[in-house]
Amino acid sequence: MDVNPFGLSCQWDALPWPSLFLLPATMHCPFCGANDTKVIDSRLVAEGEQVRRRRECVACGERFTTFETAELVLPRLIKQDGTRQPFDEEKLRAGMQRALEKRPVSVERLEAALAHIKSRLRATGEREVKSLVVGEMVMAELRKLDEVAYIRFASVYRRFQDLDEFREEIDRLAREPAKE
Ligand SMILES: [Zn+2]
Repeated sequence: MDVNPFGLSCQWDALPWPSLFLLPATMHCPFCGANDTKVIDSRLVAEGEQVRRRRECVACGERFTTFETAELVLPRLIKQDGTRQPFDEEKLRAGMQRALEKRPVSVERLEAALAHIKSRLRATGEREVKSLVVGEMVMAELRKLDEVAYIRFASVYRRFQDLDEFREEIDRLAREPAKE
């Protein structure tokens, strides 16, 4: 008997509550189009970001594999002024890219750092976390990636204590012509 609705077995228990999988409710058979398919194997891949499933069509018996993006829900961020915002990966990436501008850090390493931040956020198991917590995580990651980027980020961020404010300030600095 399946104890969970998604057919995930061994890794399921390791997922922090209250994370949820948002997956398509139906999966059509690519051979006959029937939407009644049976999951025969399921595993997390791409560091838990995807679910690879082996399915069998109940109508025609053909088997096929799907890769479904497991969008684990990230906690909302509590800003300094008490307002709540959904976690915004793009914003976070943009802020880190700014700090890493013209620094010898590959896109892969930045993406790995972002993935690490997201997994740490999920691991809190919280529905909401202070944006300060995310700021500290970003600093910890940047410190590992590049000292200059870390100092850039930390010097501005510590003053603003908020990711949004930080990004606005960095954007403003970027628009200003460089002073000799
Ligand atoms: Zn079929």
